[in-house]
Amino acid sequence: MTLFITNHVLSGAVIGLAAPRRPALVALTAAGSHFALDSVPHWGTKDKRKFRRVAIVDGLCGLATMAAIMRIAPKGTRVAVLAGMVGAAFPDSDKPAEMFFHRSPFPLRLDQFHSAIQRESARGVRTEVRAAALMAALVVLLSSARRLSAGARFRRTSRGGVRRRRWL
Ligand SMILES: [Zn+2]
Repeated sequence: MTLFITNHVLSGAVIGLAAPRRPALVALTAAGSHFALDSVPHWGTKDKRKFRRVAIVDGLCGLATMAAIMRIAPKGTRVAVLAGMVGAAFPDSDKPAEMFFHRSPFPLRLDQFHSAIQRESARGVRTEVRAAALMAALVVLLSSARRLSAGARFRRTSRGGVRRRRWL
């Protein structure tokens, strides 16, 4: 059916941190990444009730992940990071729509494509957990790298300001 939404959220954040000044491009790339990631082998089950239970937990975990990432993302990157997370999760908005309104918001062709690319198995859960750990580490790493470079820029400009004032 789909990769864990938490993993889509994490991948969107990574894309946002990679291009913090291009939020529109980030949203588009992140939405595209959704389909690329869905075609990687991942967890899935034919048991509808089990899937529903896991999907609800995963959905809540995805929201918590979004909130946590917005807290650690450095200032200048937050719009792009949010655009990435929303863009990456967006193609799966058919799942809650089907759950609550019994219909998908997307054209049938897109839904057919979306379900045709899935590669699921019970074993796929290992891939999902490893991918989540790796991407969470990347988010933390990229956030601190961005914060460090923003700090260096700030120090450079403020030093320049002092120098200018002295010169005047
Ligand atoms: Zn999907």
